[in-house]
Order: sequence, then C-alpha cells, then structure tokens
Amino acid sequence: MTATLRTLDYAVLQQCMHCGMCLPTCPTYDATTRERNSPRGRIALMRAVADGDLAVTREFAEEMSYCLGCLACQTACPAGVNYAELFETARSDIEIQQALPGAGRAFWRAVTLGFLFMRPRALRAAGSLLRVYQRTGLQALVRRSGLIRLLPDSLRRLEPQTPRIAPAFSNALIAAHEEPREPARHRVALLTGCIQDLVFSDVNRDTADVLLANGCAVFTPPVQPCCGSLHAHNGDSGRAQQLARRMIDLLPPDRYDAIVTNAGGCGSHLRRYGPLLEGDPRYRDRAHAWDAKVRDIHEWLAAIDCRAPAAAPFADPATLTYHESCHLVHGQKISKQPRALLRLLPGVRLVELPESTWCCGSAGIYAITQPEQADALLRRKTGHVLSTAAAWVATANPGCHLQIARGLDAAGAGVGVVHPISLLAQAYRNESLIATPVTSPNH
Ligand code: SF4
Ligand code: SF4
Repeated sequence: MTATLRTLDYAVLQQCMHCGMCLPTCPTYDATTRERNSPRGRIALMRAVADGDLAVTREFAEEMSYCLGCLACQTACPAGVNYAELFETARSDIEIQQALPGAGRAFWRAVTLGFLFMRPRALRAAGSLLRVYQRTGLQALVRRSGLIRLLPDSLRRLEPQTPRIAPAFSNALIAAHEEPREPARHRVALLTGCIQDLVFSDVNRDTADVLLANGCAVFTPPVQPCCGSLHAHNGDSGRAQQLARRMIDLLPPDRYDAIVTNAGGCGSHLRRYGPLLEGDPRYRDRAHAWDAKVRDIHEWLAAIDCRAPAAAPFADPATLTYHESCHLVHGQKISKQPRALLRLLPGVRLVELPESTWCCGSAGIYAITQPEQADALLRRKTGHVLSTAAAWVATANPGCHLQIARGLDAAGAGVGVVHPISLLAQAYRNESLIATPVTSPNH
C-alpha cells in the first residue's frame, strides 16, 4: 500500500512533544531560524495534513523539499520520533497529490526513478555512454561550444557535477563467488549499489578484498537491483517496495550470515525493508529476516573482530579526518566503528573533524533541487576539513564523497577523499597477504 499522512499510524505523528531539542541540530533551521524550517515545525505541518486541517499544497511540498532528510533531528530527539518515516510519507503524499507539477520534473522522474533505477542493465548502459562522453573529449568539446547553455536550469547545474564514471563496473571486478585462502568462517552477500557501482566500483572491490582477508566467503550477484532508497526518499514508495521484493528474492537472507553494504545512504534504507513491506503478507516475514541480516561494512568488521593490518596504507605517515555520512550516523547509529577501523591503520593519525555529523549538503538530489543551501553546507564542511590540516578525509557514502571532493577541488586544497575500507584494503595489499580469490561462477 502506498503511504499517505492521512493513513499513517497516528501514533507516529503524536510522538513529538514539541520540546525543541532537535532545533539546534537541524541545518535548515540553523540557516533561517524559522520554525517552519525546523523538524518541530515540519512535523506540525504533517500533523495538520493528517488531521485534515491543511491540504498538501505546493507550499507544503516546497517545505518538505527544503528538508535535507539528514535525520540529525532523529538522533537529537528524546521522544524517539521516527522522522525518517514521517519525511518519506510526506514526500509520498506530495507525489500522490501532484503538489509539485511541471512536465520537466515529471519527465526526469520517469527517466530516473521510473526507468534507469528500476533496470540495472539500463543504468549500466547509460553509465557506459556517459563514460564515452567523458573520455573521448566530447564533454570538453560540449563545454567549450556553449551547448550547455541550451539545457534546462537543473541540468545545466548538474552537468559540471556529473561524477567521473569508473573504467569498469563491479561485475567486471568481482566474481559472483569468492573464497578466502583459509576455510571461510562467514558467508556474506555484498551489495554493490548504483552510484557506487558506476563511480566507485573500486571501493566495492576493496570491500570484497577486506572481507576475504577477514575470513568471509563473498557472494556478489553480478546484476543487482537498486535498493530503492532513492525512490523512498523521493516519494515513490510503490517502486521502493517493488525493489525491496526483488532484492529479497535475489539474496534470500537465510543463506547468509550478513548482507553487507558499504554505502551509508543505502544501508539506512536497506535495514528498513520490514516496515516497508509490513502490509505484504507474502514478504513480511522475509523482510524482517532481511533487516536482521543487513550490516554496514564497518559494523560487520567490528562484529567479527577485524584483523589489524601490519602495513600502512600510505608510503609516508599521514593525517586523516573523518566525515560522518548522515545516514550512517543518524540513520544507522554507526559512528564508533569507522573510527575504530581507521585507528587500526599503521602510519595514520586520525584527527577529529569539527561538526563531523553536520550534513555536507549532498543529501541525494539536494544539490540539484536546493543548490544555494547545498553550497552553503559544502562551504561550511570544506572549511572544517581545512581547519584540521589533514591530508585526507575519509567518508563512507558516495554522495558525501563526491560532494566533499567537489568542495575541496574548488578550494584548491589538495586534500584527498577516500572510503575507510579502501585504506584498509590498501594496507592489507601492502603486507601482501590478501588471498588470490578462488572464483566460481555460481552461488
Ligand atoms: S532531516 Fe535534517 S534538515 Fe530535515 S528537519 Fe531533520 S535535521 Fe532538519
Ligand atoms: S526533539 Fe523530538 S519531540 Fe522534541 S520537538 Fe524535536 S521532534 Fe519533537
């Protein structure tokens, strides 16, 4: 069933006791100090819609679009308000009521949410075309020619931010089944993601290597559906449910000790298939079993007592800081484990990042829909990274990675961005202990 605020369990809306503890943690309230731009203000608007006192108007929709969905308010809330569910239901209602009309918006939603992110092979085909565009000089030619000016506003803003597509996707780098050198102690399914697959397939390879080095047999289906987080965050709960069912069919949870993801934004959604499919008697139980098996990679490695590498990831000692992806820290409450892994690395000094849990402004498509606020948050984040004088910033979500790299490039800072797991994989490689995978085409 598609969720609306009118049909949502009223107890979820009633939980807010208006204490205001969330206000100082909210980036949009911090920017405007207006009650309506705060979590408490937004929840009051949602409750008015549920009560029938307010229609789902364009103004309401714009307020929900201004919210980053960063979930910092959820961490701060002493009453345990489930802001993630409220926010996704509000966005779903907005789409059902078509409160944000516009042929261009409908067209791009159909192309992305309705087509590309429903068909992994089509997404890879689009990624391959983009790779050709980027690597043949065509992109440079288009930029020089001024053709970019013919694009609609949103696409013109997006074009310079288009990430560089990886030379190969995950299915070319990771076999469907890889075994560690020693007898496996764990069976793990590895999720390769969408943006992670197109842009950071090397991080997926690194993740497989780190799992192998820690005694895990790794199962990585070569073609995987999108987890549905993009759909859920953007008000398309029907397709999010379809994708959750496909994912459960592809990776039945009873076959694995853990289903591992290395992307904070995906993980936050992946571990909520149970509530998403609560109304589906065919999938409900399997969805709850699935949630119990989903692990963020840092969380999983901490649980199996990750082996400390004997070698350093870098040739020379380096200083590193850590930015916390909102959906890792607020959505999944995973904060200590990535730092603990980074502290295992020889030759690396970890320095704390001021406001490490404050959103960088990436937030899915926020940089397209709210470019000014996204840029303000990025400048704030970049300034904090520079204040640490670190040579590297580690982060575990592709959106944050791209956003912070863009900010640091613009600042000409010469600071690198890296996934914590890539550092661990490199350290293992440097001690030449990672097993050559034994591969098998089936699992
Ligand atoms: S999700 Fe983030 S931006 Fe939205 S209300 Fe909560 S703290 Fe504010
Ligand atoms: S902290 Fe929680 S209960 Fe208090 S105003 Fe914010 S959402 Fe409501």
